[in-house]
Amino acid sequence: MLKVVKFGGSSLADAAQFKKVANIIKAEPERRYVVPSAPGKRHKNDTKVTDMLYSCYELAAKGEDIGKCFGEIEDRYNGIIRELELDFSLEQDFHLIKNAFIHKAGRDFAASRGEYLNGKILAKYLGFDFIDAAEVIFFNDNGKFDAERTNSVLSQTLKQHEYAVIPGFYGSMPNDTIKTFSRGGSDITGSIVARAATCDIYENWTDVDGFLMADPRIIDNPRVISEITYHELRELSYMGATVLHEDAIFPVRIAGIPINIRNTNNPDARGTFIVSHSDKYDTGNVITGVAGKKGFSVLNIEKDMMNAEVGFGRRVLEVLENNGVCFEHLPSGIDNMSIVLSTHEIEGKRDAIKNGICRQVNPDVIDIEDGLALVAVVGRAMVKAKGTAARVFKAISGAGINIRMIDQGSSEISIIVGVEESDFEDALRAIYQEFVY
Ligand code: ASP
Repeated sequence: MLKVVKFGGSSLADAAQFKKVANIIKAEPERRYVVPSAPGKRHKNDTKVTDMLYSCYELAAKGEDIGKCFGEIEDRYNGIIRELELDFSLEQDFHLIKNAFIHKAGRDFAASRGEYLNGKILAKYLGFDFIDAAEVIFFNDNGKFDAERTNSVLSQTLKQHEYAVIPGFYGSMPNDTIKTFSRGGSDITGSIVARAATCDIYENWTDVDGFLMADPRIIDNPRVISEITYHELRELSYMGATVLHEDAIFPVRIAGIPINIRNTNNPDARGTFIVSHSDKYDTGNVITGVAGKKGFSVLNIEKDMMNAEVGFGRRVLEVLENNGVCFEHLPSGIDNMSIVLSTHEIEGKRDAIKNGICRQVNPDVIDIEDGLALVAVVGRAMVKAKGTAARVFKAISGAGINIRMIDQGSSEISIIVGVEESDFEDALRAIYQEFVY
């Protein structure tokens, strides 16, 4: 049995958190490869080290003095080292990094040092080897992650280390400069290491008990999902439910490795298992989760005999393509077609889109309505459970809410409902109430 464990920033925010992390790792010798984030917030008004690095580098890039801001970053690390009573110093690294800032080594280099330094401390504290991610995680000339080269070099390297810490969030470009993933990217590193190690489980330790069935800002005390498929997770994450970086799914999915979301502050909780396939259904719950987002617009197009006009859809979508807009959903009828778009994406392009479509297909009616919110009801059990759609609609209409759009994906694991933005929270509550309480 082999486990790769990733710890988020809040799990490593200070020395007390480091101790919890070390206890977790030492509790199971299978936890052999560790991917840390940079120190996160210690309390609500605190600043993450990554953000401190970004702002400090901004000053350096403008040629301003960075003595004060860099000193604060050093203090964060020195505080952890002191409280852990480590016989260890990062002074030489601080010196080199500060110089690199002054010589404008790049924003990505700057941000990556948060994980790099934290990884060094953690490796020392655990007595594990330290592997610099720049030597094992690669991007290509276009800045895209080079999965195959990384996998071959990383898997070879890991074979030479029984226990190691590999800092998250960054890798190197072909010209040896540092590049980071997007924010929250240590999740991706963890997943890449999991694949290269061909481990049995990728444990992703954070500060919640798992993936919740609904947004806790809207639903009081939502339940934790015990098992969710990659596919369901993708549907829920797309709708704004986040615990894990979206791109973290792909490397482990290729290798069929389950991800287990765990809570560093409550290690006894079993957490959420994210798996490729599951026949296990949480008792009584037809749905796995419900999530949603505001900020959508619907482009309505009507034309008599539209269904008989060959190439109609393609010509409409081509107009969107030419305007650099991607569509979210496309529910259509015989003589009408609705295209759900992100309101933000069409800003400044509305007239160009409408005029383009008029030229291309000469519709009877075309308009754009704003203020739509989408709610996704997601669950693998829906394929088998009869009457789920009816229950969703009954719950929403029972709450006095008008449904503006319905879309069920062909995979039948989600039903998407469009409602007025002002009805969004009530619609989520009504659905949760219907299926979960
Ligand atoms: N430290 C980086 C961030 O704050 C990456 C991570 O924590 O995953 O985005």
